[in-house]
Amino acid sequence: QCPWGAPNTTSISCSLADVMSEQLAKELQLEEENAAFPEVVAVAEGPFITGENIDTSSDLMLAQMLQMEFDREYDAQLRREEKKINGDSKVSISFENYRKVHPYDSDSSEDEVDWQDTRHDPYRADKPTTTPRRGFIGKGKDITTKHDEVVCGRKNTARMENFAPEFQVGDGIGMDLKLSNQVFNALKQHAYSEERRSARLHEKKEHSTAEKAVDPKTRLLLYKMVNAGTLETITGCISTGKESVVFHAYGGKSATEDKVIPPECAIKVFKTTLNEFKNRDKYIKDDYRFKDRFSKLNPRKIIRMWAEKEMHNLTRMQNAGIPCPEVVILKKHVLVMSFIGQDQAPAPKLKDVTLSSEDMKKAYHQVLNMMQQLYKECNLVHADLSEYNMLWHDGKVWLIDVSQSVEPTHPHGLEFLFRDCRNVSQFFQKGGVAEALNERELFNAVSGLNITADNEVDFQEEIEALEKMNEDHVQNHGKKLSMFSSDGDPPIYDE
Ligand code: ADP
Ligand code: MN
Repeated sequence: QCPWGAPNTTSISCSLADVMSEQLAKELQLEEENAAFPEVVAVAEGPFITGENIDTSSDLMLAQMLQMEFDREYDAQLRREEKKINGDSKVSISFENYRKVHPYDSDSSEDEVDWQDTRHDPYRADKPTTTPRRGFIGKGKDITTKHDEVVCGRKNTARMENFAPEFQVGDGIGMDLKLSNQVFNALKQHAYSEERRSARLHEKKEHSTAEKAVDPKTRLLLYKMVNAGTLETITGCISTGKESVVFHAYGGKSATEDKVIPPECAIKVFKTTLNEFKNRDKYIKDDYRFKDRFSKLNPRKIIRMWAEKEMHNLTRMQNAGIPCPEVVILKKHVLVMSFIGQDQAPAPKLKDVTLSSEDMKKAYHQVLNMMQQLYKECNLVHADLSEYNMLWHDGKVWLIDVSQSVEPTHPHGLEFLFRDCRNVSQFFQKGGVAEALNERELFNAVSGLNITADNEVDFQEEIEALEKMNEDHVQNHGKKLSMFSSDGDPPIYDE
């Protein structure tokens, strides 16, 4: 097979229309609900649409945008009326429950309060004291049973946490409030029916059950980019991974003259489901650049941070001249970058391309160089480097997928680097590059460290010892030490 032949792995697995139609079921359901609640404008289908093959996907999007606009105007009007009625009166009434757009629905990005996050909620009550199995605590006349009014009342108050987020329970949770069972049950009933009503009106379910990366909010983001002219058209999906979905798009025109949008773009949508990201915590949690922010964040923001991290890392690499996608724009969890490939066909991964031995050698030296540049100039370790995240395009290797990349002083940074070295070394050695360094030599060549252990186990141990030393240093001095001085020497300990 000719190494220069067209790569055979360029299938476009699904079109945008398919992505849109994933929502079909949801739309049908919405329609049904609209029938039950006619005050909601029917958006899915009008009486004039008859043909079977009419693509209404963007019509729906438009309708949703209009609906959102309408809801906002409606709320604004509501607020005006509220203000008029209340005037200067000390006692005020609230139309809060009649609002269509609840605070968490708003699209204002940074100050958004995400109610899914209760881990660090300052209003969260301490765990209610549990009653032991025997049903009472204390002795003699101080005995308290689980039916005790005070304990029970406190428990009821704490339980209000489980009500739907938009259900106004006030600050009571943080106080020593005691709710009687009767009051609690009445509230619970009301909360549940309120929750159902709200779900019907706002498709709220999507906040919790959206499995797909392309949920309505994401579609809206994409649509806005097309609408703003940043993107010309979104043609289809290139890749569906566990943590992201990547689309191809043709670039549009930039609003500002100085920034040119590449003719073809890749859109990486970080999945807004959280499960896959949990086990990646370690990459970001200990990255001191994000440390202060991490603890304060809710899951949705953490996912945006992955996108942000990829953007920052790509920018560093771009500045160092490493071949990699160029950042076009970042919106929440959606990162648009230049497309590596041509005419909608993404460049093949190194694992999928057959290179001549000459190219293989060339690729190896280039990768070695890039790893050194990444480490020394960008102060980064890729942390997921392998033939899966290197593309072959234009006769050279391009690095992608750097959302998990960390600085070398990251508590596990050197281990990540060693793993990268293992992958790279094995790939090129198997690929027949005779001069390819083994993983330990490669590690030293990239890091400028001089670990002399001649076997994997000892080597790994020394790496971990170095990391530990660095961590202790951070503990004692409150800052990171430089893993290399400007001329590339091994670590300096400034005692
Ligand atoms: P994941 O975390 O899902 O592995 P990646 O960033 O590796 O995300 O992207 C997944 C796939 O999408 C890549 O293997 C590559 O085939 C394709 N891809 C990603 N970014 C680009 C790009 N800028 N140009 C072309 N293809 C890309
Ligand atoms: Mn990848």
